[in-house]
Amino acid sequence: MLDKRLLDVLACPRCKGPLEYDAGQQELICRGEALAYPIRDGIPVMLVAEARPLSPPPAPQDRPA
Ligand SMILES: [Zn+2]
Repeated sequence: MLDKRLLDVLACPRCKGPLEYDAGQQELICRGEALAYPIRDGIPVMLVAEARPLSPPPAPQDRPA
């Protein structure tokens, strides 16, 4: 479990924005940039190189099935 006080001091290394804790995925989410930073062994990995882009919302049906 991530310490809430830790979450308070963490910010996105790219945009310095606030992060959201995803307990299920064990990730820290930057909503503004749709990036997810992994948490490994309880330690947030605040590296842009380690972040993964969040999957975009399902696209409208603009391509053939
Ligand atoms: Zn960010």
